[in-house]
Amino acid sequence: MVCKPCLTDSNVFIQQSSPYLIMSKIHTIDPSASPASTSKTQNNQQKTNLLGLSKQQLIDFFADIGEKKFRATQVMKWIYQYGVDDFFAMSNLSKKLQAKLDKVACITPPNVKFKQFSDDGTRKWVFEVTGGSLVETVLIPADDNKQFGRKTLCISSQVGCALDCSFCSTGKQGFERDLTASEIIGQLWVANQSYMTDVPISERENRVTNVVMMGMGEPLLNYRPVVASMSLMLDDHAFGMSKRRVTLSTSGVVPRMYQLAKDIDVALAISLHAPNDELRNELVPINKKYPLADLIEAAKSYVYETNPRHKKHVTIEYVMLAGVNDTDEHAHQLATLLDGLPSKINLIPFNPFPHAPYGRSSNNRIHAFSNILNQAGFVCTIRQTRGDDIDAACGQLVGQVADRTRRSQKWQEAVKKRQQQTSTLG
Ligand code: SAH
Ligand code: SF4
Repeated sequence: MVCKPCLTDSNVFIQQSSPYLIMSKIHTIDPSASPASTSKTQNNQQKTNLLGLSKQQLIDFFADIGEKKFRATQVMKWIYQYGVDDFFAMSNLSKKLQAKLDKVACITPPNVKFKQFSDDGTRKWVFEVTGGSLVETVLIPADDNKQFGRKTLCISSQVGCALDCSFCSTGKQGFERDLTASEIIGQLWVANQSYMTDVPISERENRVTNVVMMGMGEPLLNYRPVVASMSLMLDDHAFGMSKRRVTLSTSGVVPRMYQLAKDIDVALAISLHAPNDELRNELVPINKKYPLADLIEAAKSYVYETNPRHKKHVTIEYVMLAGVNDTDEHAHQLATLLDGLPSKINLIPFNPFPHAPYGRSSNNRIHAFSNILNQAGFVCTIRQTRGDDIDAACGQLVGQVADRTRRSQKWQEAVKKRQQQTSTLG
C-alpha cells in the first residue's frame, strides 16, 4: 500500500483507498496528537477490553466478577448499539456496578491515527494497532449519499497479507500479523461512532448498513477472530446486521470455506481473477495449492449447504488487467467455469500502484467482456471506479508508511528487470 506524498503537506488532501474508491477534499484529523487519548490507552492496559468479546465470553466475564448473566446483553447493547465506551453513561447499571466495571474493564477500539472525511460521504480511518502497524478501513456510501442510504464498510483482517497476489499492493507488503477480534470489530464500532458524535445517547443509531471483509489481509487465514467479529455483526444484542449484508471475500482458502459454511451464514465473495489454472497460478498464487476445480466445488458447497432452502449465490470478483485476463476467450472460459454455480460477477477495473506490472483494461474491453457474460446468462456488474487521476490501489495510504518488508523491494527489482528485458527485446 502506498501513501501519496501529499500526505505531509496539508491537512486537506486528496487520497484514495480500496480498489474502487476515491475521496476528494478529505479532511484529515490526527487524534493521536491528543495527550488525553494516550493516557487513556495507558490506563486501560491492565483492564479487560470488552470490545470484541463474544456473548459467551462476556457472560463468563460477568460471572468472574460476581455479576448476573443478563448484564452481558445489557452491556453489549450499550457498546454496539449506542456506541458507548463510558460505563458511567450506562444508565441501567447501578452506580456500584458502573464503578466496578470502570476499575476492571474498558471498551477500547484500535487507536485512530488519521481519519479522513470526504465531502462525497466517503470516510476513511487509518488505525495504529498494538505494535505500531497501520491498517485501514473505508466507508463507501451509495452514490446518492442519502443520510440513511446504503453505507458499506470495507474492513481489514490482517496487517499485510501472505498470499502475494501479483496485482495487489497489500500482498507486496508481506504479512505482518493477524488482527484481534477487538481490532476487527473495533473498525466497525469506530465507523458507526463517527455518526453518533453530538447525538443524544437515546437517539443514536448505527449507520453502516453493509460490511465487506475486503480490506487488508486474507480473512480466512485469520479465521477465529474474523468469525468472532462477524458473529458480533449479526448478533441482535450487538450490531444486529442482516446476514446478507455481511460479506467475506476470499482468494480461495478452500478448507476454510467448508469450515465457514458450518460456522456462520454470511455472504461469500471469491476473488477469482482468472478462468484457468495456468493464469490463476500467476495472479493468485494460492491457486497452486487449491486449484480452480477445488475452489468451484467449495463455492457450490457453500451456496447449497449454508442455506439450502433459500436461493443464494456467491459473488465472483474479477480484476480487469489489460491484455492479461480480459480477452473474449477469457470471458467464454469464465462462463464455462461458472456454469452450475449460482453466482454474480463483479468486474473490478484494476487500480494501478507504483511499479505494478499491469494496466487497467479499457472501458470498451470491460463492457465487451461483461456483454459476453450477460449473454451467457450471468448477472455481471462493473465496479464503479472513481479517480483515475490519482494512484488507485487498495489501501494506498498505509503502504509507504508500513512497508517494512524486503519482499516489496525484491518484487520491484524483478519488475524493473522484466521491463529492462522487454525494452532490450523491443
Ligand atoms: N484477501 C481477500 C480480501 C481482500 S482483497 C481477497 O483477496 O478476496 C479485496 C479485493 O480487492 C479482492 O477481490 C482483490 O482481488 C481486490 N484487489 C486487490 N488489489 C487490487 C487492485 N490493485 N485493483 C483492483 N482490485 C484489487
Ligand atoms: Fe492478500 Fe487478497 Fe491482496 Fe491476494 S488480493 S494479496 S489474498 S489481500
